[in-house]
Amino acid sequence: MPKIKKVQTPQNYEKPIRVAAYARVSSGKDAMLHSLSAQVSYYSDLIQKHPGWFYAGVYTDEAVTGTKEDRENFQRLIADCKAGKIDMVITKSISRFARNTVTLLETVRELKNMSIDVFFEEQNIHTMSNEGELMLTILASYAQEESRSVSENCKWRIRKNFEEGKANTFSLYGYEKINGEIRIKEDEAEVVREIFNLYLSGIGTTKIAKILRQKKIPSPKGSEWSSTKIRATLRNEKYIGDMLLQKVYTKDHLCKKTVPNNGVLPKYYVEDTHPAIISKEDFEKVQKLFSERSSNTGKIRYDYDLKGIVFCGCCGHRYRRKKNYKKYVWRCGAYSLNGLEACSSKQIPDSILHDLAVNCEKEIEKIIILPENNVQFIFTDKTEIIKHWVQPSRADSWTDEMKDKARKQTIERIMRNAENN
Ligand SMILES: [Zn+2]
Repeated sequence: MPKIKKVQTPQNYEKPIRVAAYARVSSGKDAMLHSLSAQVSYYSDLIQKHPGWFYAGVYTDEAVTGTKEDRENFQRLIADCKAGKIDMVITKSISRFARNTVTLLETVRELKNMSIDVFFEEQNIHTMSNEGELMLTILASYAQEESRSVSENCKWRIRKNFEEGKANTFSLYGYEKINGEIRIKEDEAEVVREIFNLYLSGIGTTKIAKILRQKKIPSPKGSEWSSTKIRATLRNEKYIGDMLLQKVYTKDHLCKKTVPNNGVLPKYYVEDTHPAIISKEDFEKVQKLFSERSSNTGKIRYDYDLKGIVFCGCCGHRYRRKKNYKKYVWRCGAYSLNGLEACSSKQIPDSILHDLAVNCEKEIEKIIILPENNVQFIFTDKTEIIKHWVQPSRADSWTDEMKDKARKQTIERIMRNAENN
């Protein structure tokens, strides 16, 4: 951690300065509201008792769960600053003032241009001081880390629930939730059964959607039945009373974007969590038919989860997934195009890379294929790890010591290369 010095109050104000405070609490709970009113009285006291300060108000926002918030009173505070009503703003901490570094710095700079000082109590920083902005930049990145760790905790909780077989939400056509219990909704369940029966009788998904539209059967969430919706219904294991958990996960802690989990994180299959609408036999028949029909058309869309994030440690080119005889392998794109002359890196079996990735149990940002069967994983939390793998046939003959040695050699080599460059 960088060394941080405390900064003294930057200037002696001659005439009384108008001081406002900004407070924000992060949940709608009663205890939090109490803390909000406590903060209001604390700040109004602090300002009014301070010699040379003129009370310009306390602005508060109550943050509702979730990152997106409009922060109405924060906006009002900024507007009043622009209107020339305020000379200085006091706030508890950097993380309370803004949720990310960019917004924080933008706001602070804007106020600075109007000669308005922002004082962060916890960090003891005045933005109008010489080192103010530099310190703010450093500290803000920590504040962002904090926000990430809250988000990480939350994700961990959900994952823990999943491990114990509890889904965090359940909402599905054919079911309803009554007092937390999942029950079959008979009219909708009848439609689900019909979809499965039609498909088993040889009718395709497009045709089934058409039949349902003609019968004017309302579709889930109001929109029209489409072949995509039919497909999703036929593929959904929840209809046999099971649940595949963590099909999606929250990728980014700032925007709370949800993405499909294609093996980056563990998934959990839980059986008999709720009443079944479709028998397991019928469901399996449908899945079998599905794969037969899609391989017949020859258009299997393979949305591979590692696509685009695997790079060559030798030449920096992207690694691509290719079919080699009957197995998939990852290979440097430069090698594929121009052979050994372009790059001498080795290929790695898809199954191995995939297993290594899944076992990380972390969100992967980038994978670098290193020499001597080493793979570097860089995670979205900016940590990284180097993993060693062995050819499947030789896997048994490798001891942990040998793997460790190989890993160390690779790291040394990388360091040497870095020094030479
Ligand atoms: Zn390469």
